[in-house]
Amino acid sequence: MDANQRKALKGMIKETLKNLEANGFQAAFVNDRDELMALIKQLVPEGTATATGGSETLAETGIMDYLKAKTSYNPERKKAYGAQVYLASANAITMHGEIYEVDGRGNRVSAMLFGPEKVIVIAGINKLVTDIHAAVERVKTKAAPPNCIRLGKDTPCTKLGHCTSPYYDPHHAGAIGCAADDRICSNFVVFSRQTLKNRITVILVGEEYGY
Ligand code: SF4
Repeated sequence: MDANQRKALKGMIKETLKNLEANGFQAAFVNDRDELMALIKQLVPEGTATATGGSETLAETGIMDYLKAKTSYNPERKKAYGAQVYLASANAITMHGEIYEVDGRGNRVSAMLFGPEKVIVIAGINKLVTDIHAAVERVKTKAAPPNCIRLGKDTPCTKLGHCTSPYYDPHHAGAIGCAADDRICSNFVVFSRQTLKNRITVILVGEEYGY
């Protein structure tokens, strides 16, 4: 990325953080993994009771190693609601200030929606999109196919590398998918304007992580 692209990206990030805060999220940007880990250690001190959703981002950044080594981490998904802090990544963050998540069984979104009192969402810069339409397309082309391949799912996108359902259908708001029994795109959630202000913190990272 050259200096002009970096400057343009900075403007997109600024607009996104402003809109996330207007929607009742706490929002922060960190340049890289080192800054991210320093912030995580502040927000999640050693000994905190923690839980997570499944996330390549948490693994790649080293956050999972920290949680397992230094916090009271509970890997049981159904016990996640009793944690002090829940950590997850996002499928997409929109410039309008929304978090977009698509879940299979829904353990991640259910904990994010009505679980622990504090939720932290970490998203690499590759997750930043303009709007929900772009978020839907991102999941169907960049997130779900590699996840299905990683999980060994028998779905169309495992074979083709992309979803076979429409990328955007106004009658379904993008909540549409294949007919495979192994389908992982089942629960589509947009976290928009929040009633409980600042319960959810979104951290954008200036590096690419996860799918
Ligand atoms: S709906 Fe099915 S084919 Fe489409 S991305 Fe999800 S799992 Fe893959």
